[in-house]
Amino acid sequence: MKPEISVVVPVYNEEEVIQTMHQRLTDVLSGLNLHYEIIYVDDGSKDNSASIIRPWCTDDGRVKLLSFSRNFGHQTAITCGMDYAAGEAIVIIDADLQDPPELIPDMIAKWREGFEVVYAKRRKRSGETGFKKTTARLYYRLLHRLADVDIPTDVGDFRLIDKTVRDALLQLPEHNRYVRGLIAWLGYRQTNIEYERDARYAGKTKYPLRKMLNLAGNGITSFSYKPLRISIYLGVILSIASFLFLLFIFFSRIFDLVDMEPGYASMMCVMLFFFGIVLIMLGVTGEYIGRIFEEVKNRPLYLIFREDGKFYEVGRRGTSPGSEKAVHKVDSASRPK
Ligand code: UDP
Ligand code: MG
Repeated sequence: MKPEISVVVPVYNEEEVIQTMHQRLTDVLSGLNLHYEIIYVDDGSKDNSASIIRPWCTDDGRVKLLSFSRNFGHQTAITCGMDYAAGEAIVIIDADLQDPPELIPDMIAKWREGFEVVYAKRRKRSGETGFKKTTARLYYRLLHRLADVDIPTDVGDFRLIDKTVRDALLQLPEHNRYVRGLIAWLGYRQTNIEYERDARYAGKTKYPLRKMLNLAGNGITSFSYKPLRISIYLGVILSIASFLFLLFIFFSRIFDLVDMEPGYASMMCVMLFFFGIVLIMLGVTGEYIGRIFEEVKNRPLYLIFREDGKFYEVGRRGTSPGSEKAVHKVDSASRPK
């Protein structure tokens, strides 16, 4: 039976929460009286997450597990889950219960009203540090200003998308996937429901500062050229300023307005400042070139284990592996230890 709703759950070292998560999720879904499937994408967990999930797949055909060959990252995990989802609508939800599964019925209601994208907007976040809240707030606003598409603020990946949106998403060829931005770019009829983000149920965040900065950088560089343009603005401003300074020196010299002394200090200041700017802008340019390099290599997005332990290569953009057959093939995938 073809599912109406697919729920995609990225999992990375979540052995402490996954059981409670599964319980709450199935409680919500079974109350809905529709056909559903749950796709867990194990993003190369090093703990027992996969072995906790695997028996659920055997007991209940609606539960599926896709195991990556290594940690490919959260955005890739949800991309993979969406690629495989067979439902008419797909819900993406974190495994740590920060996104309450109880919101799913409301999302489905909105979807039935005719919206293709229903995202959950965080009204409040609890259980997170002041640092995370402040940086997240500032970041979303910065992204909103910089990005060429309207990426909604305070919205994560917790959302429902229609199958048509997923199919459109498959057509976007880039490897560097900032999923919420890509969905914003696609357009369609989008709406939101507000919620209060809970604290993580158990375990630690799987997004250390390094990964968070990476995601943040991806968001900006995938959706804006403005950082590149900054070098032009800076260049223009600095050229004007230095031209004025040049005029000043020229006339001072001619009319002997000020005593000219060999100005080591001012030279150093100007030089260091300019070198600093040049280096920063070289870095920004390099960042974009690196991204071009990533795309040109055209590697698959992810690798999934197959029953025989060999790698089953999938995840090339534009070629949907999302047939049910493919899911069943990797259903009982056992990870070689
Ligand atoms: N996650 C993942 N791969 C990663 C990091 C995280 O699949 O490399 C999953 C994680 O298991 C969780 C979701 O992505 O389901 C969000 O991660 P987390 O809750 O740690 O991030 P935070 O809420 O702290 O930003
Ligand atoms: Mg979390």
